[in-house]
Amino acid sequence: MGNIFRKWVVIFSLAMPALCVAQLEPEDPIRIYRIGDITLPVEAVLSGGFSSHETANGSTALTGKPNASGWWRIELQPGIQKIPEPILYMNAMTLTTLKVWLPGEAKPVTLSQLNSLGINDGYSPRILQLSIPENVIAGQSVYWRIETAEVQALRVGLKSENALRTLDAAQSRWHNLIEGTLIALVLAGIVLSVKLRETTFLILAFGTLLSLLFLLANNGDIFYFQSIATWDAEFALQRIFGLAASAVMAYFSYVFLQMERHVPRIAKMQKLLIAALSGLLVLCFVPGIRLHSGIAVAGNLLILGSAITVFASSIILIRDGNRLGRLYLISWAPLCFLAVWRVVEVLLQLPFNAVVSIAFPGSYVIAGILLYSGLGERMLLYKQERDASNQLARIDPLTEIYNRRALDERLQVAAQLAEKSGAQVAFLFADIDHFKQINDSIGHDGGDVVLKEVTQRIRQSLRFGDVFGRYGGEEFIMALPSCTEEEAIQLAERIRAAVADFPVMYADQQVSVTLSIGISMLNSISSDVDAAIKQADKALYYCKQNGRNCVNTLPV
Ligand code: GH3
Ligand code: MG
Ligand code: MG
Repeated sequence: MGNIFRKWVVIFSLAMPALCVAQLEPEDPIRIYRIGDITLPVEAVLSGGFSSHETANGSTALTGKPNASGWWRIELQPGIQKIPEPILYMNAMTLTTLKVWLPGEAKPVTLSQLNSLGINDGYSPRILQLSIPENVIAGQSVYWRIETAEVQALRVGLKSENALRTLDAAQSRWHNLIEGTLIALVLAGIVLSVKLRETTFLILAFGTLLSLLFLLANNGDIFYFQSIATWDAEFALQRIFGLAASAVMAYFSYVFLQMERHVPRIAKMQKLLIAALSGLLVLCFVPGIRLHSGIAVAGNLLILGSAITVFASSIILIRDGNRLGRLYLISWAPLCFLAVWRVVEVLLQLPFNAVVSIAFPGSYVIAGILLYSGLGERMLLYKQERDASNQLARIDPLTEIYNRRALDERLQVAAQLAEKSGAQVAFLFADIDHFKQINDSIGHDGGDVVLKEVTQRIRQSLRFGDVFGRYGGEEFIMALPSCTEEEAIQLAERIRAAVADFPVMYADQQVSVTLSIGISMLNSISSDVDAAIKQADKALYYCKQNGRNCVNTLPV
């Protein structure tokens, strides 16, 4: 069941992003040229002074080396005539500031998440947009100067308002779905940790919360909160949340995989990585160096490192036949793969892959769901082990029915039930006749076989819900809920016959065994277990007095 569930989640996680990709690739009537870095003087650029330096950009994604920061020229193509009231936009997920010079304008318009909110016409903060005036025609150029350092690809396009809103809504739907699910996972983790008193859930919930904050900073939704946009300019929140989430999740893998116990050497590495990630996190708050790009590079390398340690540990655990390893590998694999891909993209300045940028946040959800199910499974395993040891303490090893201790407990429960419901409970006290002689004639081992066989025969006469236990050496007690005295006598008679009618076979000998059974009744008036046992014992004594192999009941 768990396996099928997991398989479907994996298939779903791969299929979803693929379905969304089609909406992302714009085929808009623009051509893009890279002019140069941010230091080029405005007048010279606008008058075409650097046109000989231009290089055509192959796609509508701006990347550039070392980053997309600097001057770009966007040449409007003939298709622009077909677009009613065209809007030029940039799909920028992180805090971006750019100045745009429309054709013939000497003064630029500034677009940024820092000042676009409220005047952003209801677009998400991911879209920085500017309407193209009616008099602008194909062949003219718009100049952009990206002021911020951009490691992520910036997608540029030209669309009608309708098309742009559709694109924005499609992206937002996907991001909102992921964010909502992660919020639910965080809450589930908190509730589970409180209810089950298991701090591992809390670590996972905290890691998931930080991952959610990282994704909010990564996809731009964090800018819905205006003041945060200014903090982001000062502190690079994406980096802070990314480092914090990685450190907490690295600690989670350390705890979940029980690294210290199973892979002690990797555990040491993991501790170092967590310490290093935490150190970098502290640097993110130190004035002067907190925005240094070295922090991002080092952080990405550490994240790569912790992906490797987690993989290595999982593989070793799988090799050693530990189920947790396989589970962790399945849940972590998509996220690790995509995170590593992203890190490599950033480190090597590759253009961003659209599938990855959609699948990456999705893989957080998948990992979250699978890890919760894994934690649940781990707790179930503990519970089963505990139940098994409890069971051992309650079962008589020879006859495999309740021992005296468990029997006492169960009898109390049955008595309480009788008292509350008013239904009566019958007590049967059975004792094997002349068992000493049986022991003497066929030996103690033979006596054990007889005990087991008698237990078996009694058990076959009982109903589900009847209590049956070994009271002492060759003495058994049965409590039969909702059973009248007549029914109890009939049943006791049947049990007696089941034992007496067929000899027990031991070492090719036929051993005749008989049973005496005393009966007493528990009801709402007399619901004392000890009194009922005494009463049944007395009835049993009469059996023994009257030739044994019989059933007896005493008037109360
Ligand atoms: P009565 O008909 O009066 O009940 O006689 P009895 O011999 O059955 O009664 P008594 O209580 O004197 O003897 C019970 C014997 O059961 C004594 C003890 O050695 C034996 N016994 C107790 N526990 C075990 C056990 O686990 N295995 C075997 N083989 N014998 C046991
Ligand atoms: Mg006895
Ligand atoms: Mg006996």
